[in-house]
Amino acid sequence: HLDRIGEVDGEYHAFLHVAGEQALAAAADVDRAVAAGDAPVSPLAGVPIALKDVFTTTDMPTTCASKILEGWVAPYDATLTTKLRQAGIPILGKTNMDEFAMGSSTENSAYGPTRNPWDTSRIPGGSGGGSAAALASYQAPLAIGTDTGGSIRQPAAVTATVGTKPTYGTVSRYGLVACASSLDQGGPCGRTVLDTALLHEVIAGHDPRDSTSVDAAVRPVVEAARQGAAGDLKGLRVGVVKELHSDSYQPGVIASFDAAVETLTKLGAEVVEVSCPHFEYALASYYLILPSEVSSNLARFDAMRYGLRVDDGTMSAEQVMAATRAAGFGKEVKRRIMIGTYALSSGYYDAYYGQALKVRSLIAQDFDKAYEQVDVLVSPTSPFTPWKIGEKVDDPLAMYLSDLCTLPTNLAGHCAMSVPSGVSDDDGLPVGLQIMAPALADERLYRVGAAFE
Ligand code: GLN
Repeated sequence: HLDRIGEVDGEYHAFLHVAGEQALAAAADVDRAVAAGDAPVSPLAGVPIALKDVFTTTDMPTTCASKILEGWVAPYDATLTTKLRQAGIPILGKTNMDEFAMGSSTENSAYGPTRNPWDTSRIPGGSGGGSAAALASYQAPLAIGTDTGGSIRQPAAVTATVGTKPTYGTVSRYGLVACASSLDQGGPCGRTVLDTALLHEVIAGHDPRDSTSVDAAVRPVVEAARQGAAGDLKGLRVGVVKELHSDSYQPGVIASFDAAVETLTKLGAEVVEVSCPHFEYALASYYLILPSEVSSNLARFDAMRYGLRVDDGTMSAEQVMAATRAAGFGKEVKRRIMIGTYALSSGYYDAYYGQALKVRSLIAQDFDKAYEQVDVLVSPTSPFTPWKIGEKVDDPLAMYLSDLCTLPTNLAGHCAMSVPSGVSDDDGLPVGLQIMAPALADERLYRVGAAFE
């Protein structure tokens, strides 16, 4: 895989940092243990991974694709990083992303965009485009993403790979640089549902170092993937979300989705239409809640504690802070800090943030009602196939629309997965099927995903 990275990553730019020496040392440790006759610590021992550059690592930089963290090396490993190391999974390097995980195309990286291996003139999705492109171009067999509003699922959809956003709180956020803490969730990415399930079980689990970690047993997702692979969905109730099936989506995406629903029916599932009337406000609610949390979380980048510091020796502390943030943050990050600061300011708090939280509750209630009727919900993962690099950079609202189908799951704290659903007949580019399930029912995603793939 290191050879492959050397050969092709000049073209795709999936990696921000490649850690060849460390990866080979970790692989050699596994070889030694095998030679000594020790039982493998994990079924994935020795299988290398690409890690999104938002998880801390003590032996390589963590930049979140931002200039403000250029070259910064964390003093501790994220819990997820530790779990990978303990499982004997060599870390090949850190992958490109939208700066601080804000974006849907990886064009907001301060280090240049990643290209979609299916068509290098197009985006690989975002914010985890680097991880998805590394998988699609066979530079890594496994990858890690984070999903705050769709950053695992939408890149999976547009690169024909698999990605899961686990139930909120089931994968530790300790050492995951925060974007929006009430929404962020690390998760597994792979080229098959079973690979993704194996990785899911490695990274999940309660962590006392994360105050929002759920104290519950790891869901049996590997067993569910094996069961699903038999291709029998008899007895499973599937809901098609009416509000996530629209004429405004790309026609080829809707055609692929309708064919997917037919496949699920043929596999024995009972498919019904369900209505989640508040989903139409998910985008508006998310784009107030997320910037509000961002404006608070990113206050830590104050030029004093980490990374970049712009200081000509005559400036006051406040001037250093302002100059550093002006130089270190990109356009989209600044936009969201400003929106969030405005939404949280006194006099506007109730009108914006308070209102958005009420909508968030209504969306969770829509899900609860739907899950009284069905076991899983399905929709397209993204309304569009991957667009041309540069096409939407000047239109943030057009960019935000690509998150339409993925946001409700994050707002409710539930789980969801994207699996490849063929190509769109209007442009021949990959389409993803989104499968959603209630909190702590992640195994349902894997059963359905494995049956469908
Ligand atoms: N595209 C969404 C955003 O820009 C989701 C990002 C994410 O999941 N990290 O906020």
